[in-house]
Amino acid sequence: MGIQTQHLAIYGKGGIGKSTTTSNIAASLAEVGYRVIQIGCDPKSDSTSTLRGANYLPTVLDSVRDGGRVKLTDISAVGFKGVLCIEAGGPVPGVGCAGRGINAAIELLRELRLFEEYKPDVVLYDVLGDVVCGGFAVPIREGLTDRVYVVSSSDFMAIYAANNLFRAINKYAPSGGAKLGGIIANSVLAPYAQALIDDFAQTTGTRTVAFVPRSTAVAQAELYGQTVIEASPNSPQADVYRRLARNIIDDRSAVIPRPLAVNDLRAWARKWGDLVIQVEQGRVAPRAGI
Ligand code: ADP
Ligand code: MG
Repeated sequence: MGIQTQHLAIYGKGGIGKSTTTSNIAASLAEVGYRVIQIGCDPKSDSTSTLRGANYLPTVLDSVRDGGRVKLTDISAVGFKGVLCIEAGGPVPGVGCAGRGINAAIELLRELRLFEEYKPDVVLYDVLGDVVCGGFAVPIREGLTDRVYVVSSSDFMAIYAANNLFRAINKYAPSGGAKLGGIIANSVLAPYAQALIDDFAQTTGTRTVAFVPRSTAVAQAELYGQTVIEASPNSPQADVYRRLARNIIDDRSAVIPRPLAVNDLRAWARKWGDLVIQVEQGRVAPRAGI
C-alpha cells in the first residue's frame, strides 16, 4: 500500500455507469485491504448506494443546509469492507446550481481534516460530467485529484461528453490541474464498440484502461443493493472490475489529452458511421480504418 493518498476522479455522462464502475473499483480495492473513501459528486446522490445496501445516507449539502455543526458521522457511512461513503448532494430541485454540493463537500471535508486523519490509500470522486462547469470542474481544477478517468460507451453522446471533459482537462492541466489517466469503456458488447472507443482514445492521445462488458451480473447486483464484488465475487464481471482497479492504482501514467474540435469530432463520427455496419457484417476487421 502506498504511503501517499491517491485521489482519483471518475467522470462521464449521466447514466453511463460511473457509480457502478466506481463502487466496484472501491469494493475491489477494499477487499484486498486498501483504505478507500468514495465521494459521490453527482446531484443524484446515489453513488455509494451499492456499497452500503442502498440505505439512506444524508448528503453533505443537506446537512450543511440544516445548519449547526456537521460531524463526519452525520455525513458518512461505512460500507462494504470498510469503504467510507460520502455523498456531496445536490440543490433543492428548481433552485441553485447543481455543482454546489461538490464545493460544500470539499470545504467541509477540509474543515474536518478528513484526509489527514483518516489517512486513506485511495479517494475516489464519482463526478457527473455532462457539463464540466462550476462545481463539477473543481476535482480537475484545483489540484484536488491526481488523475481523471472517463467512463464512456461507444454511443456518440458519451464520446461527446468525454471530449468535452478532455477540453476542461486541457484548459486546467497547465496550471496544476489533474491529468487524464484514460478511458474506461463500459457496456461494450458489439464488435465495433471496442474498436470505436480505442480509436477515439488514440485520436485524442490517451488509452483505454479497460473494457467492461454489459452484464446481467451488474443488473442483479444493483437489485440486491450491492456491488458485483459483493453479490457475485466469483463471476467473470467481478474479475473485470478487480483488474480495472489494479490497473488504475498501479499505472500512474497520465496525459494532457488532445480533444477534437467540433467539426473534427463530427468527421470522426461519420467515418465510424460508415464503419460500424461493415464491422458488424464482418466485411472489415474491427480494427480496419484505424
Ligand atoms: P451513472 O452513475 O453514470 O449515472 P450508473 O452507474 O448509475 O450510471 O449506471 C446506470 C445504469 O446502468 C444502472 O442501472 C446500472 O446498473 C447499469 N449499468 C452500468 N454499467 C453496466 C454494465 N456494465 N452492465 C450492465 N448494466 C450496467
Ligand atoms: Mg451515478
